[in-house]
Amino acid sequence: MIRYGRNHTEKARAAVLSLEKAKASGGSYNTPEVNAALAEMFHGKCYICENREGISSFQIEHLRPHRKNVVLMYDWNNLFWACAHCNNIKNAGYEPILDCTQVDVDQMIAFRKEGYFGGDEKYDFSPLEESEEIDNTVRLLREVYYGGTPQKRMEAVNIRRALRRNLSDFKNLVREYYEVEDYMKEDIKEAVRKEVGEGAAFAAFKRWLLWDHQERYRDLLDYCGLSCT
Ligand SMILES: [Zn+2]
Repeated sequence: MIRYGRNHTEKARAAVLSLEKAKASGGSYNTPEVNAALAEMFHGKCYICENREGISSFQIEHLRPHRKNVVLMYDWNNLFWACAHCNNIKNAGYEPILDCTQVDVDQMIAFRKEGYFGGDEKYDFSPLEESEEIDNTVRLLREVYYGGTPQKRMEAVNIRRALRRNLSDFKNLVREYYEVEDYMKEDIKEAVRKEVGEGAAFAAFKRWLLWDHQERYRDLLDYCGLSCT
């Protein structure tokens, strides 16, 4: 989970207008304008698992459950874009969690893959500070990536498969950057920047691959605007 800018784009303005209309008429918050604006803002990714591949069902997620509260129900700032797997798990009782449009979640939680191979591999979410929101977000992430019921465990396998493939491709890209001749580095550096950006799948894990070896990857981190102060 990373931070997303809730920017005042044309699509966002249309979404806010459609929400005002829906609220006044008692209609649904699930308008075409809201869907379009959320897809744009979260770059077609689920904000919780950061997956993008093979998602068959996207849902509008209320960060703070509305429970028929009309203010929360139609509040644009309370609407997020999640896959059905994650939305369903979060509904089961993770509240409150970090608001990824307000804070840098990946600065409060470390996202890591531990172990190198097969059964040794484990995805880990380490809180870097203490708060109820961080604690709930970590618990939610663990269940999203590993599942708590037989069905959710199967869904989680698909997410981890996509994550593993993404991390493997990213590691190869970074390896290549240090292997090629200088004149070829610019293009790869740009590709790395894209892979750790807001629109990239599983960006939190990719950023932490670099942050865990800050000295080694200083030039890449500087270029991507991800240097630690
Ligand atoms: Zn998800």
